[in-house]
Amino acid sequence: MKEKILISACLTGENCRYDGKNCLKKDILALSKYYDMIPICPEVSGGMKTPRFPSEIKNGSVINAKGKDVTDFYHDGAYWASSIVRIYNIKLAILKEKSPSCGVHFIHSGNFDGKVIEGKGITTQRLEKLGVKVINEEEALDLLKELESKETK
Ligand code: SF4
Repeated sequence: MKEKILISACLTGENCRYDGKNCLKKDILALSKYYDMIPICPEVSGGMKTPRFPSEIKNGSVINAKGKDVTDFYHDGAYWASSIVRIYNIKLAILKEKSPSCGVHFIHSGNFDGKVIEGKGITTQRLEKLGVKVINEEEALDLLKELESKETK
């Protein structure tokens, strides 16, 4: 049986992004040869509609482009993701970089100015506290190469 891991649903082609689109990374899907990948979208599972206003983290709160505090939705989504981690004993998650939920190393500045700063999304923070290794889409491709090269040795 393959190990179960989480992946941001938008990376698998699900149209769950704030703008109703996706961030499909076809190459990453080849990891399904090695893992049983469970797609998650913490924002949708936290109760947000699609499409929705974009949101950014500012001083620990999540604020949407209309100035509304939507932090609770983000914490609900992170809680839901952590429940899946507990149920399936998940050790690895591939999450979408720069998202206020899924950002791994970077998030937007909080000023809606297009700038990116170092930081983690709300779900990433929660999963890491549970001991999950969280990697972004580029690191997932590195992992894929590593696994493929082991097979050819
Ligand atoms: Fe993708 Fe995560 Fe944003 Fe959902 S919350 S659209 S999975 S980046």
